[in-house]
Amino acid sequence: MDDPTRPLTVSGCRSECAWSATGDVLGGDPVFDCSACGSEWVRSEPWTPIDAQGEVPDSVLAERRRT
Ligand SMILES: [Zn+2]
Repeated sequence: MDDPTRPLTVSGCRSECAWSATGDVLGGDPVFDCSACGSEWVRSEPWTPIDAQGEVPDSVLAERRRT
């Protein structure tokens, strides 16, 4: 279930992105994904997801702030 080595899916996010937590855990961190393009993100990634409105989703911000 929790495979810490699997690669993340990263697709070309465009105009319909909508990010939310998937409930999955990867390497100890919760996995977020985009329902529009299927990209995945965890807090250890160097980039930050942005939704279709050009804003970082609150749930992603909260995850970024988590220590
Ligand atoms: Zn997307």
